[in-house]
Amino acid sequence: ALAASLRGVTKSYDTGVMALGPLDLAVRKGEFISLLGPSGCGKSTALRIIAGLTAPSSGTVRVSRHEGEVQPGHGIGFVFQEPTLMPWTSARENVRLPLKLAGVPKAEARARADEALASVGLTDFADAYPRELSGGMKMRVSLARALVTDPDILLMDEPFAALDEITRFRLNNDLLALWRRLGKTIIFVTHSVFESVYLSQRVVVMTARPGRIQADLRVETAEPRG
Ligand code: ADP
Ligand code: ADP
Repeated sequence: ALAASLRGVTKSYDTGVMALGPLDLAVRKGEFISLLGPSGCGKSTALRIIAGLTAPSSGTVRVSRHEGEVQPGHGIGFVFQEPTLMPWTSARENVRLPLKLAGVPKAEARARADEALASVGLTDFADAYPRELSGGMKMRVSLARALVTDPDILLMDEPFAALDEITRFRLNNDLLALWRRLGKTIIFVTHSVFESVYLSQRVVVMTARPGRIQADLRVETAEPRG
């Protein structure tokens, strides 16, 4: 089964920049795939198109959803490079926000937020404010916020690029463990060859602008991933 598919997708911005495509890409359910390419090649654009945040100039995008789901984007979790947390409220409240917006009752939403925080190792920091957290912890909160709605697909746009190497490596390992445990489809944008090969089963290499697929590689590892 497919989690997402793009057919002949292109994007040219109002500025005249031809950013993407044509792009053909089919992502299977449960796959952990990386989009790898130089800065400016259209990776973020591709991700935002899959998320429904940007309209393609041409082509078709299909994203599978939960049974009976009607709202576009609902089955998608998005993690940006910047954690974009609300500074005036706690980690728990930041994670609860998507559920609040979806009208989930407060007690249930709090419980689910705490569960999501636990899944990223932040049980003891639910009451902490963003300013009290390190860059890596803020990213974990951002990841918890993306997971709290239990999306089918997790889209991550260079999420760890701003972190120091050790923090980044820890987050890579924890993300891999989460993927094994939760079985979600993950599309991970990076310009790090190491990160793409370490994390994913499949690396899609993109050309410089306009972004097209140059290679679509299956990554074999001696150690089992799943
Ligand atoms: P990447 O994620 O690979 O760095 P982007 O998708 O961010 O690439 O950008 C691809 C190209 O499109 C770049 O040349 C960028 O400057 C341009 N671009 C991205 N977003 C916009 C926008 N909102 N308006 C105009 N041009 C944009
Ligand atoms: P990335 O980290 O993916 O390379 P950028 O730093 O290039 O992203 O862009 C950051 C934000 O600015 C994105 O939301 C992108 O859409 C927007 N952007 C990038 N290039 C342009 C542009 N030429 N005109 C308008 N917006 C742009």
